[in-house]
Amino acid sequence: MAQREEITAHLASELAVDRFKDYGPNGLQIEGGPAVQTLVSGVTASLALIDAAIVHGADAILVHHGLFWRGHDGCLSGWLRQRVARLLAHDINLFAYHLPLDAHAELGNNAQLGRQLGLRADARFGEQDLGFIGAAAGLADAPALAARVAQVLGRTPLLLPGDGRPLRRVAWCSGGAQGYFEAAMAAGADAFLTGEISEPQAHLSRETGVAFLACGHHATERYGAPALGAHLAERFGLQHRFIDIDNPA
Ligand SMILES: [Zn+2]
Repeated sequence: MAQREEITAHLASELAVDRFKDYGPNGLQIEGGPAVQTLVSGVTASLALIDAAIVHGADAILVHHGLFWRGHDGCLSGWLRQRVARLLAHDINLFAYHLPLDAHAELGNNAQLGRQLGLRADARFGEQDLGFIGAAAGLADAPALAARVAQVLGRTPLLLPGDGRPLRRVAWCSGGAQGYFEAAMAAGADAFLTGEISEPQAHLSRETGVAFLACGHHATERYGAPALGAHLAERFGLQHRFIDIDNPA
């Protein structure tokens, strides 16, 4: 059992929240009850996750994608009202950490994704140091990396194989980080792995010879929230469960 404010303060310092410029607020986005005993972690504060957390008896939810984003009109109507109403009606705290959770060197999405894939970063690159890069760790070429991704994440990535060069350095950044491709190349990557692809990256891969793998936004961001949830559970003596709401995107 822990007080909500203890958890908020611990997360702010552990994730160095103040160091990031982000698209939404990082921290306690919805205030629920003052004490937390049962924590549910998940990728996105969707209605499905909120409903599953209610069934589970959660008094707090910890997510990577919260409810409030730059560009939204700020009105509490429609789908946003539904989600917020459910949380308030059940007195559930909502903790959300976006870029600080991608970046954390141990518990973050990138660190945990690397661990799943057998990759370890020895350097960082890109805006706010969000990109991870390290040795290819026995993966001979881009198809071998794609096969590892398919096996570990349970879905076949979209692969632009580049020029077939042997892999020495692999770079990765979870989620919608296709815009980091050029920074990854500048950092020395032979292959770059992220969640999504946009039209320009296909050309860049063909023209530079550097492989590009789009492995799913959700699929690449499934590991930070449960790692952070387990960390909180151990530190504060909470019950914790990660609930995965499948998402094909
Ligand atoms: Zn994301």
